[in-house]
Amino acid sequence: MDTLIAGAKLYDGFGGSGRCANVLLSGDRIAAVTPPGKKIPAAGIRVEDGRGLALAPGFIDAHSHSDENYFETPGADSKISQGVTTEICGNCGFSPDERGDHGGLAGFIRHLKETVPAVNVATFTGFNSLRMQVMDSIDRPATPAEIGQMKAIFAEELKLGSLGLSSGLYYVSGKFAPEAEVAALAALLKGTGKPYATHLRSEEAGLLDALREAISIARAGSGSLQVSHFKTMGTENFNKLDDAIRLLDEARADGLRVHADRYPYTYSSTGLRNLAPAPFDRLEDRALQEKLAASADACQKLAGLWRSNPPDWTKVLMVDSPAPEQAQWIGKTIAEIAEALAVQPEKAMTRLLARAMPRAAFGCMSEENLKRILTLDWVFAGSDAGCRAFGNARVHPRAFGTMPEFFRIARAAGVDPGRIIRRMTLDPAVKFQLDKRGAVKPGFHADLVLFDEENFASAADYIHADRPAQGIRCVWVNGVAAYRPDTGISSGRAGRFLAC
Ligand SMILES: [Zn+2]
Repeated sequence: MDTLIAGAKLYDGFGGSGRCANVLLSGDRIAAVTPPGKKIPAAGIRVEDGRGLALAPGFIDAHSHSDENYFETPGADSKISQGVTTEICGNCGFSPDERGDHGGLAGFIRHLKETVPAVNVATFTGFNSLRMQVMDSIDRPATPAEIGQMKAIFAEELKLGSLGLSSGLYYVSGKFAPEAEVAALAALLKGTGKPYATHLRSEEAGLLDALREAISIARAGSGSLQVSHFKTMGTENFNKLDDAIRLLDEARADGLRVHADRYPYTYSSTGLRNLAPAPFDRLEDRALQEKLAASADACQKLAGLWRSNPPDWTKVLMVDSPAPEQAQWIGKTIAEIAEALAVQPEKAMTRLLARAMPRAAFGCMSEENLKRILTLDWVFAGSDAGCRAFGNARVHPRAFGTMPEFFRIARAAGVDPGRIIRRMTLDPAVKFQLDKRGAVKPGFHADLVLFDEENFASAADYIHADRPAQGIRCVWVNGVAAYRPDTGISSGRAGRFLAC
């Protein structure tokens, strides 16, 4: 049955301020967009009352790590509940490959079609994954023969609909690849318009050099660059934002198509143990815990390393722990925990880690820079998170809250809502070459979100990360009403693999 969404304030994705309109969905497409007041043919049409609400194209998560999560969580609860209808997967150098449970891209597409996730999926080919498929030892540059093998796999994936190349040059094994090696792969993108996306080699002291490298690799490709989770990490690097923006502006003036994505948070989140410097960083979780539990010397040595180079303990927040007696510290900073225990923070840390491996959030980014980045017209909303089910709180709140937070912060900074929505919809659709997506226009796919823009907010925090976004009324994917907060994820999932 056709659906008419009547009387909502429409943000059509093109960037203008909202206007009142009726939108008719027929099958999986948008059939008509008409001004209000036109007679509504009621027979045989389901009418959705949009009065007092905003209607926009479904949001595009420009930086997702859902990848193989769909096979466990086809409802993509965390994404669809915040209005996401399409995800860009395969980021940071990692995409489904032959070593995984679902095979390479061909197998992934086949399984995805069988699974039918709630959202549409497009994916990059990951450079790191290519490397790991063809190289036995990975801590060296690839040989010409290995580059040839990687090219063959990548060429095949581009034919299957891969949307471009992503790299993670900060991570093993991408970090061992010189620029020329990445550029040799990116060269396959020439003439396709497909982007090169990168988790930069450095987001800290080496940020500017890493951006120069990214620009040069993108030039070797199709001339389209996507900077992943654009940030300046670490207090001493907060002042690098001006230079970083200038570099990218110059590249753009020079003809490169440059965009970035960002999650709207200043805390990263990972194991507390990741603060442990060398030589402790080489120990696996269990080995580190056992060592600290067994040896007072080891505890003292580790505490001494922290004392000589202390992290900001007021910005390290404990968010979860497998040890029941540590539950009392959840939501507290290490500085607060140390005070309560009447010990130095370093000592509190070794005590915690000797008992368990808690998860923590780290305030390593600048609030001011975040606001500024979210006002930039070339920055998309990207969660940097994989899809999760409701009830899974052991994640970063960005998993459930990226879209409302992105919208809220940019709006509070004075950006017009129509412009923000364009960066969450049509702009990424164009960048990633998603055919007939990202706008509310006759003939386009019926991916839509109906929401209350004044009350569109994230309820997720570092302790309760799985709270669904507030203000969402209904989300349609390919014409199917896929999510309503009152009835949950619909059984009629309608997401598709989008070949690019
Ligand atoms: Zn990344």
